[in-house]
Amino acid sequence: MASQCAKEVKRVREAFSGAIAELTALEAAKSIEESKIKDIFAVHLRFLRDKSLRKRITDYVRDELTTAEYALSVTLREIASHFARMDDPYISERAADFYDMEKRLLTQLLGKVREDVEHLTSEVVIVAHDLSPTQTASFNKTFVKGIATEAGGRTSHTAIVARSLGIPAVVALEEVTLTVTADSTVIVDGNRGMVIIDPNEETVKEYQRYASELSQFEHRLYVIKDEPAVTRDGVNITLLGNIEFDDEAEMVKERGGDGIGLYRTEFLYLYNDSEPTEQDHYEAYAHAVRTFESQPVVIRTMDMGADKYPQSGRRPVESNPVLGLRSIRFCLQNLTMFKNQLRAILRVSVLGDVRIIFPLISNLQELRQAKMILRDVMEDLDESGIGYNPDVPVGIMIETPSAALTASLLAGECDFFSIGTNDLIQYTLAVDRANEHVSTLYSAADPAVLSLLRNVIHDANKAKIGLSVCGEVASDPEFIMLILGMGVRTLSLAPPMIPEIKQVIRSVTLKECNQLARKVATMDSQRQIKNYLRDVAIKILPEAF
Ligand code: PEP
Ligand code: MG
Repeated sequence: MASQCAKEVKRVREAFSGAIAELTALEAAKSIEESKIKDIFAVHLRFLRDKSLRKRITDYVRDELTTAEYALSVTLREIASHFARMDDPYISERAADFYDMEKRLLTQLLGKVREDVEHLTSEVVIVAHDLSPTQTASFNKTFVKGIATEAGGRTSHTAIVARSLGIPAVVALEEVTLTVTADSTVIVDGNRGMVIIDPNEETVKEYQRYASELSQFEHRLYVIKDEPAVTRDGVNITLLGNIEFDDEAEMVKERGGDGIGLYRTEFLYLYNDSEPTEQDHYEAYAHAVRTFESQPVVIRTMDMGADKYPQSGRRPVESNPVLGLRSIRFCLQNLTMFKNQLRAILRVSVLGDVRIIFPLISNLQELRQAKMILRDVMEDLDESGIGYNPDVPVGIMIETPSAALTASLLAGECDFFSIGTNDLIQYTLAVDRANEHVSTLYSAADPAVLSLLRNVIHDANKAKIGLSVCGEVASDPEFIMLILGMGVRTLSLAPPMIPEIKQVIRSVTLKECNQLARKVATMDSQRQIKNYLRDVAIKILPEAF
């Protein structure tokens, strides 16, 4: 351990030397006119040459026995958030410098490895402290067979992207980066949330058997892909897919989905360094819409912020990003960007059954503002003689307790709701969905969450507007009977999970679902509810567990 520690300390020092050399060269290459950039580089150089900063990181490695990467990220982020909390904007803006330096130093440490990840030629498991959703989306799933991270939660966007790609992932693992080495053998059991490092021969054999059973199960499910999602007592359920990229639309179709229930368009921004043009938006949406012809494609306006930022790392400095300028709030303060996207969505609305959904609406005023901007864009298109569907359905995501509690008001001014349980749970229980330290407190089975769900479902059905659930609970076999029993008839979920969820639906009657929902309503603890739902689900589809 002592020699490993010395190696990590040496890596920290080398990363600093490398970053200083790189910055010095960059600074020298800048002309006098680029003096602003030169100034920034000079500030970074000053910090990087500061011996006490380096010492703080190497001390962390020695005291906590961590890798160089981990110590560096923790220390620089601590300093960044300290700066961010300052009232003086000049000082608080320095936080961004520390994020930049973190990136530069990590590139020194990981640069080569990163390149390797992009050019893989054999199968690997990615083990990391944290991965951004964008990094995860760039993995080649032919070679990346599993992901294990220390940070994150089951519904963080990194986990969601991995699920969409069909890559088994386990997040919120304590100190996994310290336990593996480059030549470890790693089993990632995404179903049970387990990672086994350097398993013995017997365990490997057991998992080979399990993997083969799973693939037979998947094959059996594939056979029912064209069968309807109908309960045994004849109630039809609509199954739609959640996508991040337009080319996933084919996967939804191939797995037997009836359309797109949630298109997370912000990935268009996250993937590119520059802001997408109206035409970039148009082409991506048109591809998804054409794949589904007359079936619905629900396009969500950009939901940036919280754990989703553009590649460039540009982000507002906020001490509480989840409660900050994210999602619709960001759009309403960046109208050029917002209108650009709305124009593209309206233009594709003539190609099929396109619907617009606004994320994170937390009050009626916000919905009215968003609709007003949409009307402005419609008028602009009218003036330019560009066609669109003037009756394009407009819906909102129900993701905050305030929206859930005022659902009857909101239902009066929109065409449909989609319940985003990922965020709704986070905001109801005050638990960051991407924070591994509180991940055990995050639960869809919490009576508070279920009470809000009941309210929203009741109000949407009473107002006779469209209703779906598009959070991760819709991909979870344990929750399907409960959601149906509560009155939901449309689910939007991760494309690879569509066949499995269809099988659950085809195995139950609505009568049983209603009974189950009534029974759950009498229970008072999340543990009791969770155990009950699990016991029932295991009986219905034992292969899924
Ligand atoms: C949700 O919050 O449940 C949701 C579907 O949106 P996202 O996961 O993209 O935040
Ligand atoms: Mg959300």
